[in-house]
Amino acid sequence: MAFSCNKDNQTIYGFQYDLKDWITLKENKASVFEMTCCGNQAILKTSKLGTQFFAHKVKPKTSECSTGGESAEHIHIKYLVMKELDRNGWAVEVEKRGATPNGEEWIADIYAEKGKAKIAIEVQWSPQTFIETSRRQEKYAQSGVRCAWLLRSGSMKARDAIVGDYAYSTKDMPVFSIYKNKKQDEHTYVVYNVNKLKTNSYDPLEPIALELEYFIKNLVSSRIKFTKKYSLVKRMYLEIIKQNCWNKRCGGTTKIVTRMYFKEIVFGVEIEYLFQSEAIDDCDDQILEALNTQLARAYNFAPLRRRYSKTVGGSYVANSCIHCDALMGKNFISYYNDKNPSMIKTHCIDIPNKGDLIEQGESFEFGKWIMRDR
Ligand SMILES: [Zn+2]
Ligand SMILES: [Zn+2]
Repeated sequence: MAFSCNKDNQTIYGFQYDLKDWITLKENKASVFEMTCCGNQAILKTSKLGTQFFAHKVKPKTSECSTGGESAEHIHIKYLVMKELDRNGWAVEVEKRGATPNGEEWIADIYAEKGKAKIAIEVQWSPQTFIETSRRQEKYAQSGVRCAWLLRSGSMKARDAIVGDYAYSTKDMPVFSIYKNKKQDEHTYVVYNVNKLKTNSYDPLEPIALELEYFIKNLVSSRIKFTKKYSLVKRMYLEIIKQNCWNKRCGGTTKIVTRMYFKEIVFGVEIEYLFQSEAIDDCDDQILEALNTQLARAYNFAPLRRRYSKTVGGSYVANSCIHCDALMGKNFISYYNDKNPSMIKTHCIDIPNKGDLIEQGESFEFGKWIMRDR
């Protein structure tokens, strides 16, 4: 099966024609159709799956014209991808040859350009190791071509396993799996390893499945974006109450910080975990510096600092009276602040994320492909 032929010395592609025009083209006796491989006469055909392709009118004697024994389904998926790219204004080329600046050659199954954008889409039918995919991806990257991979999976089970090696993916490696549910319409190919964002959950991602054409359309219009799971910053705010200074000579009222609250940013969504709050006693220096510089003046409390307490017999990060600098001991803080009418919560500030929640095998670069609504 060939995707293209020369019609009156111009290259045409089967996927550029809708059904009606394809039939008209088949009836066209005035034009000359030649195979691009050898220049011999071509005829127009349609496969059982609906692939519109070109074939030698007379079976070729040399093996150079063979299409390499790809399955009809593999060819059909490539055909659907090219058709969708063409429909979205991309100039598609089949089996485009190129080379890296170092002269390493590559051949792209499906290559397309639109403006300055150059992309390749590889439909991988037989299993390919992660290392091999990385190697080929690197060549495309060096050549300024963005490549996405569609890896075939033969079953629902394999669908998730197939990208197992790629589970800890980074932005450099857009890998998806494609699967056809044989019980459904035979033309339905579905792409997995895309996610949708939920904003009201501790687990903000929801895996979704997209029909092949819809997936391609969204992929090439940048609506499927790589999003890092972890952010370099966390968010924090403070709970503050008013308390009378115990020092009789002062007698003033001062604000004291009772607790720190944290929000994690996961896949770009701010998540406030239940009970994600801490007393200030063991607050580390980085956070201490951040809250003292960004919140102390705005909310009128004395900068927090490590102080020695005779009552406790040791030192800890403590509040001080803003008037007389007396230690406002932690043992005198009421934790029933919800009933305290003076209780306020500050606005949020950014603090460095030390990556406490990063799971095994993941890093700050780890992420997922997310479908964005615009
Ligand atoms: Zn040929
Ligand atoms: Zn005081």
